[in-house]
Amino acid sequence: MNEMNQKIERCYDSHVHWLGTGDNLTMVPLAQMQGIESLRSLSIKPESFRDRWLLGFGWDEHRWLRPESVNRQMLDEVFPDHPVYFIRADSHAAWLNTLALKELEFWHPRGEGPHSSLEEFIPRADDGWPRGLLLEKAKFHAGTLLPEPTVSQCKALLTNATRTFHRAGFTHIRDMTCSARQWEAATSLDFAGELQLAVLQNFHVYNSAELPKILELARTAKLNQSPNLRVKGIKIFYDGSLGSETAYLSQCYCGRNHRGQIVYSEQEIREMVLESWSAGFEVCVHTIGDQAADDIVNLLQKMKVHGHQGSTHLEHVEILRPDTIAKMRDLSLTCHLQPCHWLSDKNWLAEKLGSLFPHVFPWAALENAGVPIFFGSDSPIEPPSVINNIQAVAELALQGISRPRQNSTHYQICPEPQLAEGSYTVFENGRVKDLFFAGQRIEL
Ligand SMILES: [Zn+2]
Repeated sequence: MNEMNQKIERCYDSHVHWLGTGDNLTMVPLAQMQGIESLRSLSIKPESFRDRWLLGFGWDEHRWLRPESVNRQMLDEVFPDHPVYFIRADSHAAWLNTLALKELEFWHPRGEGPHSSLEEFIPRADDGWPRGLLLEKAKFHAGTLLPEPTVSQCKALLTNATRTFHRAGFTHIRDMTCSARQWEAATSLDFAGELQLAVLQNFHVYNSAELPKILELARTAKLNQSPNLRVKGIKIFYDGSLGSETAYLSQCYCGRNHRGQIVYSEQEIREMVLESWSAGFEVCVHTIGDQAADDIVNLLQKMKVHGHQGSTHLEHVEILRPDTIAKMRDLSLTCHLQPCHWLSDKNWLAEKLGSLFPHVFPWAALENAGVPIFFGSDSPIEPPSVINNIQAVAELALQGISRPRQNSTHYQICPEPQLAEGSYTVFENGRVKDLFFAGQRIEL
């Protein structure tokens, strides 16, 4: 069947950030920046402020005419009066002005201050002071220190994001980053009959010390879950991103002397996985680099030998070596891939990865090994889109990356048939013509 003309039941994006997708619609759009000069001509709307904070999303210095590394002084010059927090396109780094560093208490000499345990994620300038970038753990921690949206702001953000998913054809999502506030807003929408989306919900743990608190939150949420809002598991970051060169590889990035970085020790991750399984939750681990995935698969194998096994999801798996895939059988693993990352990363992916490039987007090899796979977008990192994934799979086939066994839309069907029955999307010429959620027609 022509993939551009079809009816898809339970059209599903298997990896999104629901609240982040709504947030992205209000933040200063930074994806179009051509360079540092663009800071002066950004379109800044009142809703881009949360309290006094100016929030932005989507800068990527690799896409600038003259790529250069960013620093706090660049923001200080243009925004001297407001704390600024700009999220990188891959969401694994934040760019802050000096005021913001001070307000979040990152403005301390090396190894001092309340965030000294995050030192390795706080790049410093030659003078020893923070450069204005926060990476990985430090970035995610800083995110929790910003003023939180109120419940009603949060409801509006989730509703706007839902509209974005509908327009792209989705009735079902798997959300990766729920917080207490988001859960409160989502259940409130649902009780009011205003939730027109089926959500498989995961709770984000950004620091191992937070795990007991997050497990408690997930437990309470599960007691209150509804037919369309299902609590599934816990999401843990293990490595970073390819764009920031923090995804953990088995060899150095081409022309560099580093392989990326991991966020937790084996011992830490083992304890987090065990505790989450014993509390009855699935575990989702963010692994983009081939070595990150190999580490986790080795750990799961060891745990299995000791009688510990539970449902585990590997998120992204953008690069997997054949020896890692061979070890995945019988580990209750599911893999979630986002073909559309190719559309943004194709200009530099082969160059960065060198001899690892043939192992990117390993859908065919995973299927041959009997590992279930699903497709998504990582929205707002990429726009949610069935069509972009179709296009990326086709482009990658031309690069020598074997196609999956089925049409790509096959991997965008929610695996839980009882969830919001009577939901389907009709695509015509690649556009959404009609969308029904739980038997009800949605105005697009
Ligand atoms: Zn993600």
